[in-house]
Amino acid sequence: MDYSWQPFFPYNAILCRYSEIGTKGRNRFIFEERLRTDLQRRLAALGNLHFSNDRGRIFILPEAPKTIFTAADLALLRREIPLLAGLASVSPGFYVKPDIGGIEQVIDTHFPALYHAFQKCPHALPPTYAMHSRRSDKSFPMSCEEVEIHFATRLHQRFPDLTIDLQHAHLVIELEIRKNMAFISFERIEGPGGLPSGSAGRVLGLLSGGFDSPVACYQMLRRGCCMDFLTFHSSPFTPPATLTKVCALVRRLNDFQTSGKLLTINLLPAQKAIRDACFSRFRTVLYRRFMLRLAEYVAGYLRAQALVTGDNLGQVASQTLENLTVINAATSMLIIRPLITADKNDTMALAEKIGTWKLSSENVPDSCTVFAPPDPATRTNLKKILQQERLIPIDLLLKQCLETTSILNPNDYSQQIVATDKMIAYGCSSQK
Ligand code: ATP
Ligand code: MG
Repeated sequence: MDYSWQPFFPYNAILCRYSEIGTKGRNRFIFEERLRTDLQRRLAALGNLHFSNDRGRIFILPEAPKTIFTAADLALLRREIPLLAGLASVSPGFYVKPDIGGIEQVIDTHFPALYHAFQKCPHALPPTYAMHSRRSDKSFPMSCEEVEIHFATRLHQRFPDLTIDLQHAHLVIELEIRKNMAFISFERIEGPGGLPSGSAGRVLGLLSGGFDSPVACYQMLRRGCCMDFLTFHSSPFTPPATLTKVCALVRRLNDFQTSGKLLTINLLPAQKAIRDACFSRFRTVLYRRFMLRLAEYVAGYLRAQALVTGDNLGQVASQTLENLTVINAATSMLIIRPLITADKNDTMALAEKIGTWKLSSENVPDSCTVFAPPDPATRTNLKKILQQERLIPIDLLLKQCLETTSILNPNDYSQQIVATDKMIAYGCSSQK
């Protein structure tokens, strides 16, 4: 929903709604605590804040001497909330005493500004209105329906062209009536949903410059994982721009968490050996098996519990059930494929929403296309692939690739080589 037409309101509170945490049982408070810590960190620029949890909601009030949020505070809120995993939505609003007079006063004072700002929009749409109210304090003398009728009547008297549209209204008042307070808001900022960052462990995302893997990584971040990233290049067969593009994707994905690392590995030693010794139609599957083996070392080094890929069933030759089975067998690590059943259009829409689409659409060569055969096999089997792998010195090639491992800072592009012995020591080598 676009609220950019709304005028500034002197809000004195912020209401945070979470959906899934609410379904947690005894350990719910751990998730709530993480979410609160994340909110505190992200909203630090708002000054001292008072947080209180109340039946599936977090209320945030400014601490004295500050009594209202500024326009800059609200701009920050609108920027940060869509990045904060675990939040369903957030509304800035007015926190008042739970009596009808107090609620009337807020609505009488501020609704006209909302109405007139909407009237001034260039679209000239007729103003539609809805009030959605919730009442957890059953001792409040009016039911939700009575409150909604009360305000619809009151506002209609003042603004006769206001029509009610409960589903798609432009002017929406949300009202929450609780034991000690009422909260009135005109705006709902959508969060990513899911679980708070860091509540689900650490994973390693295999990030290419394509459209799928950044979206798959986002799905894991939204699910509460902390994430580092691994990308393969084939320098000098792939240009430096291949890595610059991945850096831009990592910068964007890191907006959803606190600074995941980006590691890079040059796959070329393995690709050359595969090109020279193996049947060309199997190259893609053989490349992928190498990627997973190398990723397993990196995951061990970074203490990541699972690998994440953007695989999508049937999308390309390497993603048929047969080939996925063979690729999977290269590692015993858990591989999470959040997009396995996704529709490409949905993935593209999500990429657009999270800001990776434009970055992925830059046309830059990818490591997988180096020596890629024109007719990759869509149905391999493990026996045939193992025969092919006997033709190349796997351990030596893994070592040669691992020797190229660097940590690449996605902001200033500085590189730090990772010592191979460290990687091998930490990595859990399950060479199958
Ligand atoms: P994507 O759009 O994510 O590149 P894709 O549809 O092009 O995916 P593939 O090229 O078969 O599919 O790659 C499947 C998955 O393997 C990717 O989603 C990614 O997780 C991983 N992968 C592919 N290439 C690389 C790479 N160069 N570096 C790291 N991971 C890669
Ligand atoms: Mg790709």
